[in-house]
Amino acid sequence: MTEHLLKILIVGDGNVGKSSFVHRYVSGQFNKTYKMTVGVDFSVKLLRWSDKEKVRLQLWDIAGQERFISMTRIYYKGALGCVVMFDVTSSSSFSSCRHWKQDLDNKAMLPNGDSIPCILVANKCDLAHRAVSADTIDKFSKAHGFITWMETSVKDNKNVEEAMRMLAQEILSV
Ligand code: GDP
Repeated sequence: MTEHLLKILIVGDGNVGKSSFVHRYVSGQFNKTYKMTVGVDFSVKLLRWSDKEKVRLQLWDIAGQERFISMTRIYYKGALGCVVMFDVTSSSSFSSCRHWKQDLDNKAMLPNGDSIPCILVANKCDLAHRAVSADTIDKFSKAHGFITWMETSVKDNKNVEEAMRMLAQEILSV
């Protein structure tokens, strides 16, 4: 059995649902009051990928960041993929995605110099009052080199596993 270790970053403004996303994905729960410790922390999820392969996903969540800040290279070191998350009801959290992606493109490179694969995640799609249209997200995602984008609801457990699988698939196909 081969085991792949994938370090994956989860970035985005504060309150978009990063900690809830990781918690849901790793433990299958949505807990409104759940909060990770402030600072960088990571959680682990093991996936059976095929008959011969296992995948160990190491999810690095930056907790406690209210808006975009340039991260240190240490945080990005060795990362093979990233989830850039915003809240569909917050246009400012969407605007920040451009900065998050730029910071990633500058600092998080694969050994061959390419940018690491990033998926754009539009969270809280269960909420009615949207601030960003699907068309705008789609154009942005294509213009900034995301592998794709997906709507998720951590609350309703919609597309959380799908988004992570898509990203892992892309990483393993490189
Ligand atoms: P973080 O600061 O990005 O880690 O965000 P949190 O995970 O702490 O979530 C911020 C708030 O959004 C919390 O009150 C969560 O319960 C809530 N939340 C997270 N995901 C969703 C979602 O998909 N739908 C709704 N309605 N609320 C969510």
